[in-house]
Amino acid sequence: MKAGFLVGIYKMQVKETPKPTIADGEALIAISACGICGSDIHDAARAQEPRIPGHEFSGTIAEIRGDALGFKVGEQVVLDPIMRCGQCSFCKQGKDHLCEKMAVIGCQTPGGFAEFAVVPNKNMRRIPAGLSPELATLADPLAVTLHAADIAGDIKGKNCLVYGAGTLGLFMIQVLKMRGAAKVAVVDIAQERLEVAKKLDPSFITVNPSTDPQYKAVEGINFELLIELAGGSAPTLPDAVNRGGKDCLILLIAQRAPTEINCWNFMFGEKRLQGVFGQTAKNYKQAVEMLGKGEINGKALLTHVFTLDKVQEAYDMARSPKSVKVVVKPK
Ligand SMILES: [Zn+2]
Ligand SMILES: [Zn+2]
Repeated sequence: MKAGFLVGIYKMQVKETPKPTIADGEALIAISACGICGSDIHDAARAQEPRIPGHEFSGTIAEIRGDALGFKVGEQVVLDPIMRCGQCSFCKQGKDHLCEKMAVIGCQTPGGFAEFAVVPNKNMRRIPAGLSPELATLADPLAVTLHAADIAGDIKGKNCLVYGAGTLGLFMIQVLKMRGAAKVAVVDIAQERLEVAKKLDPSFITVNPSTDPQYKAVEGINFELLIELAGGSAPTLPDAVNRGGKDCLILLIAQRAPTEINCWNFMFGEKRLQGVFGQTAKNYKQAVEMLGKGEINGKALLTHVFTLDKVQEAYDMARSPKSVKVVVKPK
């Protein structure tokens, strides 16, 4: 089969590799589509051993072994990429996103930038009728924002500021609105992405710090919930600490590099900072349902589709501010 290997820093290469075989409890998926995640780009920045990445994928069941859990060959499925043990104390409490033995399909196992991939049967979810395999791959990032919203608790009537208008940010603002947020603003230096936010709903306030360094667009708004989804090295967390109102909650989801915050401001405002990681199995299920029912707009976020032969171009586009979500299809 053909597969896209990560072979160097931001470097993908399509190679022939043996079609994988399955064990009991696993299925072979003929892949339809695989999205490029922000974390794939993060991994590509420090590529090591050549491997097949991609954890946001959908496809058709080509073979299945062991307990099929009601699935049949030929069915269209999308993958919850998180493998959870179901046994540890976190799994038992329903906090399975913190599973002690967590592994991710496409990170610890070969992923979806290929013609075929192997997945555990228990990680498959049926694609609802009418939902395209490309759009179904957006369940993973949507699930992350549902998890963040759950952690935020009561969002009703709160003014919210989201840093980053990539796939996560553009899902996040929609989820905040659905859960009753008052004013919702989104910050990004990529004007193209802010335009997508405006298209989703003109009531979203957009801030572009490269043309509005003083954040005039949100002057006078008391932000009670601030969500960092920009990642990279932008000084978003220090900004959130300074900009958030007293008693605000700041969720840190994407930024990974160490950073300094104004501790004085943080303490005297009695602000709260909470890390947020991944999603639960329940969040993922809900995300697939919401996309299937059209309760959330994923279509506006899906800006580019490439074939597997052009996986390098796809990665290049995913790093460009001109794209939001880039998806790769075997053919
Ligand atoms: Zn992802
Ligand atoms: Zn566990």
